[in-house]
Amino acid sequence: MQTTITHETKQLKVDDIKLYINGKFTGGQGKTTYSNRSPFTNETINNIAEGRKEDIEEAVKAAKDAFEQGPWGSMKVKERLVYINRIADLIDEEAEEIALLESIDTGLPISQTKNQAARAAENFRFYARMVETKLHGESYPVDEDFINYTVYKPLGVVGLITPWNAPFMLETWKVAPALATGNTVVLKPAELSPLTANKLAEIIHKADLPAGVFNVVHGFGETAGDALVKHPDVKAISFTGETTTGSTIIKNSADTLKKTSMELGGKSPLIIFDDADFDRALDAAVWGIFSFNGERCTANSRVFVHKNIKDKFVEKLKERVLNIKIGDPLDPSTELGPLIETEHFNKVKHYIEVAKQEGCEVFQAVVPEELKAGNYVPPTLLLNATNDMRVCQEEIFGPVMAVIEFETEEEAIQAANNVRYGLAGYVWTNDMKKGHRVAHAVEAGMLWINSQNVRDLRIPFGGTKDSGIGREGGHYAIFEFYTEPKVIHVALGDHHIPQFGKKK
Ligand code: NAD
Repeated sequence: MQTTITHETKQLKVDDIKLYINGKFTGGQGKTTYSNRSPFTNETINNIAEGRKEDIEEAVKAAKDAFEQGPWGSMKVKERLVYINRIADLIDEEAEEIALLESIDTGLPISQTKNQAARAAENFRFYARMVETKLHGESYPVDEDFINYTVYKPLGVVGLITPWNAPFMLETWKVAPALATGNTVVLKPAELSPLTANKLAEIIHKADLPAGVFNVVHGFGETAGDALVKHPDVKAISFTGETTTGSTIIKNSADTLKKTSMELGGKSPLIIFDDADFDRALDAAVWGIFSFNGERCTANSRVFVHKNIKDKFVEKLKERVLNIKIGDPLDPSTELGPLIETEHFNKVKHYIEVAKQEGCEVFQAVVPEELKAGNYVPPTLLLNATNDMRVCQEEIFGPVMAVIEFETEEEAIQAANNVRYGLAGYVWTNDMKKGHRVAHAVEAGMLWINSQNVRDLRIPFGGTKDSGIGREGGHYAIFEFYTEPKVIHVALGDHHIPQFGKKK
């Protein structure tokens, strides 16, 4: 079954969607569905087949058969990579529709989901190139006696569990390396953002991958996700989502000794010194928290501003906040859209109340009256914040920036590190020695000096502390997660072998 969109007088109709198992779109064994709601109107967009344990079992069996008996496991690498590049081309062809579906489903502004679709295609091309040129082993000669060499083998069936905040990009960020290295996949997308995962299934179906190589089971974390994590035939779980969910998944995967990769929450600091390029730092700080509706794992939710520039910086922040274009996610000029669902909206609103109770001055724009049906939280500044407040320690995951004043470099580093998370960090200064020093001292997996979060697919992506275990991206994905090294020892001559039991 295909998703079709009829685009008449702004009335969008998206067909109901199914699971994708063993090369077929299917309603699921339980025949139950759940309703997928629009963040913009809170009305039902469409109904989603709800996959459960029995559907995960069917999908894992299909993926296992495809790996062990189907053509995928024995296919020449070059041939496999033709499929991967074909998927990239099809994503490019369907980029408009992907962006539209993503915006309808998540509330992310269309100007931002368009970039995500382009990046998703590049994820496939990038991993096709990586596998072709970099996925080779090493050899270790031992005198004239041995040559020991390594080869990198796919794991088999891998389970991919993804969140709703940048669904298509994050799904392809996992699916591309998993398939390019020769694994087969069961994807469990977030229940709140199923549309583009279904689109990916359609694209992969169109690319004509052998049945069972790629499967999508929609459904809830506690049922479908849990069954995938506990399934003995799933060799690894790559997860992106909340820290508490990651911890549950690690526990639940222990009995079946799975390899896991964890990309979790964040509360990233952005530190601006008084010698920084003020205007560029302002642009970066505003973009870093208000793009993606603030639902960005690497968002600079804590901004530390040097005492000497704080008043001016806050004044400019206020101007920006009032000017951010809040609007319909499908309007190309919209900069901030509605949050994913009412529960999350209420959580973010609650944190703004907590900030008031903790003594912050809350400065906000106003949501236009005509948007009130949506889950809109206006761009929000929490001024006069201190790092020990709950709103500076807990992940809010919305368009909410805490502004904290500092005086010395040591004080800024200490406060930046005084948090359970360690995903990203940003340092703004024109003194490069200081920039490097602070970047080295901040406890995070990824630091940017004088830049917003600009991605480089080759780098290891991920966090320390409660932000994750392991890395994605570049050679980390293909060597350290989606393949396993195997060593082959070859005797080159007649080296000594002890002769136990031989009569002298
Ligand atoms: P979530 O943890 O609620 O859900 C993520 C996925 O896990 C969903 O598919 C969900 O169905 C599934 N799930 C839930 N419980 C499960 C269980 N017991 N077993 C198996 N699967 C289960 O996260 P979310 O609310 O969708 O996403 C937002 C979070 O993701 C934020 O904390 C954000 O920081 C984080 N995130 C991190 C990164 C990163 O790279 N570090 C990137 C994006 C988002």
